[in-house]
Amino acid sequence: MLSENVDPKFAKWFTHSLANPMALNEIERLKHFNKDKQLSAATMLKQMSERGICPRCESMTYRTEGWQQFNISQCPKCGYHGKTVTIDEYLNKRLYR
Ligand SMILES: [Zn+2]
Repeated sequence: MLSENVDPKFAKWFTHSLANPMALNEIERLKHFNKDKQLSAATMLKQMSERGICPRCESMTYRTEGWQQFNISQCPKCGYHGKTVTIDEYLNKRLYR
């Protein structure tokens, strides 16, 4: 899914963050609307840039009440509920670990 010359830490995070049913549904939805079965990682991340990333386990999160003001969301994987950074911010600040 990723091109060769990416930061290995990024590649690890990317694979990990999308390994949950919610993210997989999202990818299927994007493929459908883009009519692009080989959706590139760059396109995917651009379109998902406003989704949340769990600060605890780095999974993609569900927005909950408070998202508008404080980016509050819930993680379907570890159960974290609280302030979340967006994928955009995550990548810009290279927060992946
Ligand atoms: Zn989590």
